[in-house]
Amino acid sequence: MIEIRDVHKSFGQHEVLKGVSLHVAAGEVAVVLGPSGSGKSTLLRSVNHLEKVDRGQIRVDGELIGYRRRGNKLYELKEREVLKQRSAIGFVFQNFNLFPHLTVADNVAEAPVATGRLRRKPARAKALELLGRVGLAERADAYPRQLSGGQQQRVAIARALALDPKVVLFDEPTSALDPELVGEVLDAMLDLARSGTTMIVVTHEIGFAREVADTVVFIDDGRVLEQGPPARVLDNPEHERTRSFLSKVL
Ligand code: ADP
Ligand code: MG
Repeated sequence: MIEIRDVHKSFGQHEVLKGVSLHVAAGEVAVVLGPSGSGKSTLLRSVNHLEKVDRGQIRVDGELIGYRRRGNKLYELKEREVLKQRSAIGFVFQNFNLFPHLTVADNVAEAPVATGRLRRKPARAKALELLGRVGLAERADAYPRQLSGGQQQRVAIARALALDPKVVLFDEPTSALDPELVGEVLDAMLDLARSGTTMIVVTHEIGFAREVADTVVFIDDGRVLEQGPPARVLDNPEHERTRSFLSKVL
């Protein structure tokens, strides 16, 4: 479902991704770990073309991201086409990024209405159903500022599902939360994983990785240093760098 092949990305002289490859099969969950600055966010942002890669290719459900191939040349997609591709990829950010002036239900209903997929009424019905999935149907008419951080992040998860994405990407979804609010967000993500959603999750929540991940990927300095089932990467890492990182986050 997600195929990242030999992706390179530099910002100026600084090469941030140095040939990253990662495959995530349909219905699987990959958890990405690695030190701050190792390129995790850049990798996720490349998957929905928020960053343009310099080399390599990314496909989601077989579709090349950001480019169209004609003969053996690649042409960058137009903004409209990029937005269309992006609508198949849910994204949950560290800082929720909800619209403060919209109610919870309108935050979730916004994309289906704005893209013309649903009219207002069915969009609200769908928003209520998605909010029900994350346990927040009764807060539909509240504003984000009236909710806890954990509740806001659960709204952001419901919103990420509003266009029926093929995959959902999470960039440190619990690292801005007070510790007592982390569990409710991880529970919502666990439900999503169990329902067969294809996910890449950047997180340092090792317990979540152990329980939910099909693959754990350790990224260090722009490279995948090791990847494999959680039992191997987390409990029996090959590399000293992985061991030393894990000893700091565990
Ligand atoms: P991580 O998410 O693993 O902490 P990032 O992908 O955010 O790492 O960043 C990797 C490196 O790329 C960092 O050194 C960061 O400063 C740099 N970087 C990220 N985005 C930009 C940008 N837009 N311009 C310049 N440098 C950037
Ligand atoms: Mg990051």
